[in-house]
Amino acid sequence: MKSAMVLVALGSNKPHGRHGPPRAVLVAAMAALDGDGIKLVAQSRIRSTDPVGPSSRSYANAAVVVKTKLPLPELLRRLKQLEAKFGKRRGQRWGARTLDLDIIGAGDAVLPSRLRWRAAVHGLIVPHPRLAGRRFVLDPCVEIAPDWRHPVLNLTVRQLHARAHRPKGIADG
Ligand code: AMP
Repeated sequence: MKSAMVLVALGSNKPHGRHGPPRAVLVAAMAALDGDGIKLVAQSRIRSTDPVGPSSRSYANAAVVVKTKLPLPELLRRLKQLEAKFGKRRGQRWGARTLDLDIIGAGDAVLPSRLRWRAAVHGLIVPHPRLAGRRFVLDPCVEIAPDWRHPVLNLTVRQLHARAHRPKGIADG
């Protein structure tokens, strides 16, 4: 099977007992991602981001590009295993989370399908449905994958990033 480049976003806003503060959690998570059929080929720097939603803790955010032959559902399973290893509890949408891993995009792959991507609400959705407009994801992504083109929106990460940073009135108009 062909290997694919996959853009993965990492976030943490809760310290880990052994690894330490969110920034150190991401350093450890990036190292843990590499190996066993997943090769880390690029990593952004780790940024501190103000919290989104009612949570009051600030986040550490980063993104990586991995090269893998694993099918995307299997990659997601591995990411969830890693989240679990770092102690993320399910069902805490805005709460404290030690490690959150999201598949942002994978070449021109569209899941569940091109036709159903916009309406999809559950199961694995690729590109990630909440990518556009999220500075805390686009800022690290633009460092390492500016030219990746969103296969449905037909915009590059560079363009999505510029849009997300445009003053409100212009972006809406
Ligand atoms: P969260 O707890 O907010 O990270 O949501 C994780 C859930 O979203 C998982 O159960 C995944 O099945 C689902 N999901 C859908 N699309 C993606 C994606 N592109 N990357 C990661 N999780 C996804």
